[in-house]
Amino acid sequence: MAAAAGAAPQLRLDALSVHFLAEGRLLAAVRGIDLDVPAGAITCLVGESGCGKSLAARSVLRLTPEGAILGGRVLLQGEDLLGLSERALRRVRGARVGMIFQEPMTSLNPVLRVGEQAAEPLRLHLGMGRAEARREVVRLFSEVGIPAPESRYEDYPHQLSGGMRQRVMIAMALACGPELLLADEPTTALDATIQGQILRLIRGRSRERGMAVLFITHDLGVVADMADTVGVMYAGMLVERAPVAELFAQPLHPYTRGLMAAAPGRDSLGAARLPTIPGSVPPLTAMPPGCPFEPRCAEAMPRCAEAAPPMLVEGAHGVACWLVTREGETTP
Ligand code: SF4
Repeated sequence: MAAAAGAAPQLRLDALSVHFLAEGRLLAAVRGIDLDVPAGAITCLVGESGCGKSLAARSVLRLTPEGAILGGRVLLQGEDLLGLSERALRRVRGARVGMIFQEPMTSLNPVLRVGEQAAEPLRLHLGMGRAEARREVVRLFSEVGIPAPESRYEDYPHQLSGGMRQRVMIAMALACGPELLLADEPTTALDATIQGQILRLIRGRSRERGMAVLFITHDLGVVADMADTVGVMYAGMLVERAPVAELFAQPLHPYTRGLMAAAPGRDSLGAARLPTIPGSVPPLTAMPPGCPFEPRCAEAMPRCAEAAPPMLVEGAHGVACWLVTREGETTP
């Protein structure tokens, strides 16, 4: 079920920002992101480690590190989640919004059987009885590729491999049939076969049940397979966003082009070395005053060091780069 044209998005990030107070000043870790995730569609966020992708996703449910100062709006079907009380937000987490984050070991309670943990949201949010929730968990475990799901129900987290724990987390995230799924590198710990199975499951759920998906990955192969729309993040900024086919056919931002050149693909088979983007993402304490990519950009001009470019949007394709953005133009 794809989103109807013109329908309000399931999730809208409206000027989302995250700051931290350090050394007496405010440091911007996420800077004014505007992004829509329609029902029945998958929006991928890509970028190097430290670009703010995970922090942006965690901000949706206010699961940010202590001291984070959130700004802007996070609209779930028009309701601003940043304005909800902690109690109201607890009813959203795990029910209307499912989450799969990295580090499955730290996300699971070590002293509870994994089956009981997976059954908890079904009992809490859907009011299922113990036996019904157990049957549903066994079905979900089987769906995410956990062998012998009946007996695995009784295991504790330490008895499972990292990949198996991650599959438990995925089952828990999908348990209540969420309208939005936040998936942060959900298949990194899994082998290629299981990864393919999980990605098909997420895509199928999205299409069949209208689930919106915000999917974070650094793997452009996964992006090409999964995404309807892609957002490219750099140093806390969304520097480019576009429908997936358009982005791959015509990447406009030098950072996006660098990521694509550095990604292994069919053309690179047999190549001695892939090109890399020189340098690294600047730390929060040393952000350049202009375009944050300027120190690494082969196409930088003098004005790039002076001011960060606003995003220019034409059709569904937006890019924040002085090569594209002309004087006086801003985001509509
Ligand atoms: Fe490169 Fe300038 Fe574009 Fe930044 S604004 S990506 S420095 S050309």
